[in-house]
Amino acid sequence: MISGNNQLCMLCGAKEYETICSYSEPDKYERAVGIALEGYKRKWVQCAGCGLYYSKYSRQPDALDRIYIADYRSGTSCWRNSTTEEIFNNVVALPPHQSETKQRVNWIKSQIDNVWRGGIIKKGTPPYRILDIGGATGVFAFEFRDAEWLPYIIDPSIDGSFIQSKYGIPYKQQYYKPGGFEERFDLIALIFVLEHYCDPVSLLQQVRMDMKKDSLLYIELPDALCFKHKPSDDDIFNSCHLWMFSPVTLSRLLDICGFEIFNLQRTKTIRGHYSLMSLSGIK
Ligand SMILES: [Zn+2]
Repeated sequence: MISGNNQLCMLCGAKEYETICSYSEPDKYERAVGIALEGYKRKWVQCAGCGLYYSKYSRQPDALDRIYIADYRSGTSCWRNSTTEEIFNNVVALPPHQSETKQRVNWIKSQIDNVWRGGIIKKGTPPYRILDIGGATGVFAFEFRDAEWLPYIIDPSIDGSFIQSKYGIPYKQQYYKPGGFEERFDLIALIFVLEHYCDPVSLLQQVRMDMKKDSLLYIELPDALCFKHKPSDDDIFNSCHLWMFSPVTLSRLLDICGFEIFNLQRTKTIRGHYSLMSLSGIK
């Protein structure tokens, strides 16, 4: 019996599951925080009740927390060769057809336009404020900024502070909690973040507290389709990822947390990742 986390499905409470794949030794992220081989277990399972894919593991639930402060994107870690600022400079220089971020920004802004034009939610007056939770690379916030949109970033990583000092985008170095900035937001973005959180329900409930009345939530995360199309040693299944959502299970999560989806898209990104892009509002 694996202990340490997730005895019941977080979405439906079911105990039964099917094991999809198992790992017998710590991966590079776990080794970086000192997880030992002895007694090690990790596996991906699918809930028999609702179909949610989730990770069950022997390490303590908070064992990987410090990786997000200094190692996950760092140029000094064993899996990255460039600093966050070098990556930023390379990525913002990409032409639109090669830039996932530029395409993402365009998609979000066009969906917001649809929502506003259709009167699905009321359009306020600019400036609009967007909070990028977990956006320490700075690329998304930088690309999203225009005459109407003011970006803000909150991320535990020490790597992102250049985005404030060099580009004037407010950057809070801390794990997300509501009220980190004085403003409430017209849009909150969680881009490849939710799959890292032990308690996505609590996170989304907190995020609601930072949202204005007529505001939007953008979530992008790995699509559970990857279980069909990627080998079990692919990095998408690494130990930092705790959940894999499908359109059905993401909708269910959002519903539980008081959101409804306005638009959801399954896509294969330029770099070959299967991902879900979703724009939601408060119910
Ligand atoms: Zn379930």
